[in-house]
Amino acid sequence: LELGFRGRRALVTGAGKGIGRAVAVALSRAGARVTALSRTAADLESLAQECPGIEPLCLDLADWAATEAALGAVGPFELLVNNAAIAQLQPFLEVTREALDRSLDVNFRAVLHVSQIVARQMIAQGLPGAIVNVSSQASQRALRDHAVYCSTKSALDMLSKVMAMELGPHKIRVNTVNPTVVMTDMGRINWSDPQKSAAMISRIPLGKFAEVDDVVNSILFLLSDKSAMTTGSSLMVDGGFLVS
Ligand code: NDP
Repeated sequence: LELGFRGRRALVTGAGKGIGRAVAVALSRAGARVTALSRTAADLESLAQECPGIEPLCLDLADWAATEAALGAVGPFELLVNNAAIAQLQPFLEVTREALDRSLDVNFRAVLHVSQIVARQMIAQGLPGAIVNVSSQASQRALRDHAVYCSTKSALDMLSKVMAMELGPHKIRVNTVNPTVVMTDMGRINWSDPQKSAAMISRIPLGKFAEVDDVVNSILFLLSDKSAMTTGSSLMVDGGFLVS
């Protein structure tokens, strides 16, 4: 399946580890010119070694001013994957201001801000574009200890719809992918307890967690012209969790 990424410029956030890293590698192997943004320099160095064409961009997305400065100096991009996020699980009664602020900064504010910068560049250059925001099944189901995470992902789903509405006339599509648990570092920290994971798997009709590639393939589809008429949608990669 030819996805038409050859020569197109792509920005992937949270590309040091997990899903973001796999998206950056897949896009690069499909011929895109990828800028990989992440927080830990060592991850970006190993990524650049694994995939020599990838441009690393080391940045903490919680820093609004640093984000503006760094992204103003690169681009324009035609493809954007807002993938970086954190999941700090706390019972509702114990949610801290620090966790709330940091989660909102990375999972929500940074997506809005990065998308603004990238979309403005697309519009200024007259480039059609595609943006994929990595959300979660947690945007649409209450999960214990996930008050902040669920809320940031829910806000992200709605932000994506409004972006789709306002950016559509500029030929920029915006969609989300909403995975179930994936055993990345984030997944392992939160779902390694066998009792907890068994309880979650029992609620997934397909009876398993998602693989990184399941999520990557859905992101590539939504970035590609194969989904040319799809915008403002959320693609579940949840094994049926949300219909069960
Ligand atoms: P990981 O924790 O494995 O990787 C996240 C990446 O994002 C890391 O490279 C991390 O860098 C980077 N990142 C985090 N904060 C920042 C920041 N402030 N600035 C720049 N980069 C940052 O997560 P996953 O790959 O599992 O998750 C990717 C996406 O998928 C997220 O949006 C997540 O919410 C979503 N998702 C994940 C699920 C799962 O079960 N794993 C399920 C559903 C959705 P560093 O490590 O250096 O901080």
